[in-house]
Amino acid sequence: MEKVQEVTYWKRCSTCKKEIGFRAPHYVCSVSTCRHPRKGFRFCSVECWDAHLGFANHREAWAEDAVAPTKEEYLQSEEGYIPAERAPKRVIVAPETASPHTRLAHETPSASVQTDTLIVVSKVKALIKERSGMSTSQCCIDALTKKVVGECLKAIEYATNSGRKTVMGRDVK
Ligand SMILES: [Zn+2]
Ligand SMILES: [Zn+2]
Repeated sequence: MEKVQEVTYWKRCSTCKKEIGFRAPHYVCSVSTCRHPRKGFRFCSVECWDAHLGFANHREAWAEDAVAPTKEEYLQSEEGYIPAERAPKRVIVAPETASPHTRLAHETPSASVQTDTLIVVSKVKALIKERSGMSTSQCCIDALTKKVVGECLKAIEYATNSGRKTVMGRDVK
């Protein structure tokens, strides 16, 4: 049984089955269900992308430039699409109960992103006060900031995998 060893191309075009090589530019559909790794539609040309519209029945869609991963990335990644090794490091939010020792173990320089408060504190406090009458602690603000950072990093990942240089609203899942 020869398996992944002799991989000479990345994937085949979903329409014409032409081989899409490693690092080859190609196109993906803007619709998230089409680009989801499980469905994994990718197209060698805009014409091939056009062809899938016949059965996909999209209301609004466009073809997006994408670039295939390198062979190394492909073989390393389980899905063959999102190179796990290159994924941005998640911001690790240690539970409040974690000991200082545990926190240090996680917070290597590359894993932690040092950020100032990224949210509008007064507005968050006003929202919470208005909805509940409760006050808001600083650790809540910090936790929200970490969440924002984490979502940004994930969005960067999606945009990168789509071959874009702009992070769009649809990258925020
Ligand atoms: Zn094709
Ligand atoms: Zn589509």
